[in-house]
Amino acid sequence: MKIRESYKCFTSLSILVLSALVISLITNTNVTAKINDTTIVERYGQLRVEGNKIVNHDGNPVALQGMSLSWSQWEAAPYYNYDCVKWLRDDWKCTVVRASMGIAKSKGGYLANKDRELSKIVKVIDACIDLGIYVIVDWHDHNAHEHESEAIEFFKEIATIYGDSPNIIYEIFNEPLLNVSWPNVIKPYAETVIEEIRSIDTNNIIIVGTPTWSQDVDKASNDPLSFSNIAYALHFYAATHKDFLRRKAEIALNNGIALFVSEFGTTEASGTGVIDYTESEKWFSFMDENNLSWCNWSIVDKDETSAALKSGASATGNWSSSDLTASGTFVRDKIISYSEIITSVEDQLNNIYVPKNFFLNQNYPNPFNPTTKISYGIPAFAGITNNRVVIKVYDVIGNEIATLVNELKPPGNYEIDFNADKLTSGIYYYTLSTGNFRETKKMILLK
Ligand code: CA
Repeated sequence: MKIRESYKCFTSLSILVLSALVISLITNTNVTAKINDTTIVERYGQLRVEGNKIVNHDGNPVALQGMSLSWSQWEAAPYYNYDCVKWLRDDWKCTVVRASMGIAKSKGGYLANKDRELSKIVKVIDACIDLGIYVIVDWHDHNAHEHESEAIEFFKEIATIYGDSPNIIYEIFNEPLLNVSWPNVIKPYAETVIEEIRSIDTNNIIIVGTPTWSQDVDKASNDPLSFSNIAYALHFYAATHKDFLRRKAEIALNNGIALFVSEFGTTEASGTGVIDYTESEKWFSFMDENNLSWCNWSIVDKDETSAALKSGASATGNWSSSDLTASGTFVRDKIISYSEIITSVEDQLNNIYVPKNFFLNQNYPNPFNPTTKISYGIPAFAGITNNRVVIKVYDVIGNEIATLVNELKPPGNYEIDFNADKLTSGIYYYTLSTGNFRETKKMILLK
């Protein structure tokens, strides 16, 4: 009897709580909470490469920010686990994690300890899929062309198990050494390995290393691979690689290939020495301006300045500020700043302050004399803080008449005035170009 009464009491209480919950869900139109609860992979879906950009499932450019785990076979080995990845997602706000599987037999990597290393990589991949972030499966090898059949076997296995998951990004050759030939060594290796991956997984992004520790992206851009959804690795260490490497990256981007900064350090190229904050900030601006995704080197508690963790930091996350090195603190703050942009932009998006797609409106009034208003919108793509926006006016035969806008703009709605005081009556065109979006509209000046 007592049991039945308490059961009845329990069920009516449950119904009450449930009804209250349903009512609050209906009346509370706080969609933000829901959007902020979705994972980055739910938001972006299957990534692909369009021109020199990585785009989401809607075709809009996106950039990922996260951490690379250090060599799987050495000091970082304990960090290849679910809780560490979860901490990197929840506390550091990483949208991507790179699993760097050491390969070389002489270094005790995968070729010496196949099952041991594979199990670490699989743990990180499974964690990233479960947690809804992207994962780079990195063949962390300086001589991958000497291990082609082993790479093929490994990547076919990964593609078979995980190829349907949008989370996976393959990286097939971490860093070829100084001046290793792109046309004679790296490209033929990449073609063979990619063909094998594509026979199983037709679409996930594959990152290909470039000569000279993944710096000579310009060489790859002069002779790119003919497969789709390929990005080329650009690696830098801020205290060593400065303007000259950004110029190489610009050449490559202008030649139309997509770059992915799958590894960079705030330090010297050795992975240690001084931290160069000024150059690091220059690189962050450069990567922002070009929508480049990045992973910082690295999660490890080794005694080197590029390491994010101090000696003895727990293998399962829960790090306090005293567990982080100077570089770790600096990079964590940076990654968090992107997530704050994502959140604030999504809050705005829900309030319709920010458009969901690029647009260029018809000018108003039209016809006009002599001023008119042109409005346009820059949508919110997380990970991208600014978009280079260019608006130009042309006459009917294509002469450029005026540049109305040429600057980096955060997401939002914009309106500008165009004054045609000095122009003669006639038809003019105005064009908005930004990212992969370009649109032209006609306007009529009637004096
Ligand atoms: Ca796929």
